[in-house]
Amino acid sequence: MTLNTANLVELTLEICNVESVSGSEANLADQIERTLKTASHLSVHRSGNAMVASTNLGRAKRVLIAGHIDTVPVAGNLPATLHHFEREQVILGRGTVDMKGGVAVMLKLALELENPVFDVSWIFYDNEEVASELNGLGRMVRETPELFAGEFAVLCEPTSAMVEGGCNGTIRVEVSAKGTKAHSARPWMGENAIHKLTPALQSLSSYEPQTVSVDGLEYRESLNAVLASAGIATNVIPDLATLTVNYRFAPDKSASEAEAMLREFFSGYEVVVTDAAEGARPGLNTELAQAFIASTKTEVRPKYGWTDVARFSALGIPAVNYGPGDPSLAHADNESVPVGHLFDCEQGLRGWLTGN
Ligand SMILES: [Zn+2]
Repeated sequence: MTLNTANLVELTLEICNVESVSGSEANLADQIERTLKTASHLSVHRSGNAMVASTNLGRAKRVLIAGHIDTVPVAGNLPATLHHFEREQVILGRGTVDMKGGVAVMLKLALELENPVFDVSWIFYDNEEVASELNGLGRMVRETPELFAGEFAVLCEPTSAMVEGGCNGTIRVEVSAKGTKAHSARPWMGENAIHKLTPALQSLSSYEPQTVSVDGLEYRESLNAVLASAGIATNVIPDLATLTVNYRFAPDKSASEAEAMLREFFSGYEVVVTDAAEGARPGLNTELAQAFIASTKTEVRPKYGWTDVARFSALGIPAVNYGPGDPSLAHADNESVPVGHLFDCEQGLRGWLTGN
């Protein structure tokens, strides 16, 4: 069976209603692959449940347009349904926002744009909503890096049909204080590790997060304790206390610079990095980015969360997020996309890719 790309609203419903929770994307991937293969202007390379459909027109520039086809688990919110409110039409259901609305726009344009002004590689991939090592985009980049050569990338993650540039990086560290165990009736015999975290907690609560301007966008940072653990019993002075701290840093810094900042911030404590991911600079100063922003006729905002734009950025390809749906509804049980966003994104991408 192939998907019917004639009507964007029907296509979005159809894609949403092929359930594809992370790890079980095969059925949807098959349908997308068969649909792409009906277009003679595309060459399709599939790996597992990810694929790249490319035009090869010999254009001077190539752009990459990407979207993940998996969703978080269904919560009684399938099949997706179309609702008519007084002022707008909305599609309600799992995946409508994150991000099958974007996938529908991509698939329709991939089939219809036989003669784009750039060569285009349309990338559909699996396992975005789960652990990073399973990510289908990351896997394909490792397997076939030659398919990911391009000058600019658009990730159709939900942005309410606005352009969101780059993304903050993220790093998690464990900050530990050591003490000496003792009976709590004779605390002078020991040293309380929890109490020794006091300066660290005071520094955190008085810290004023920075807002950093990168390529003209203002990235708001944050530094927070997110977990605390200590103690073995209610009558024992603890000899170890650990805070887990998450620092979301602007893309003017590398993850190793963020780590250095945290080591200095928590000097005197043991600091262990448990997880780090680079941010992505918005790369809005390039000609392709400027043309993209002009075609979509929207203002550009920074993205605070981490997205796969950082994977393109790591390849040296500037990338932005641009897709239908309000990102704050992603993963919500009442996930829903306004039909207007679907058409806005279709029109924005179509105008850019056809030079109109
Ligand atoms: Zn997503």
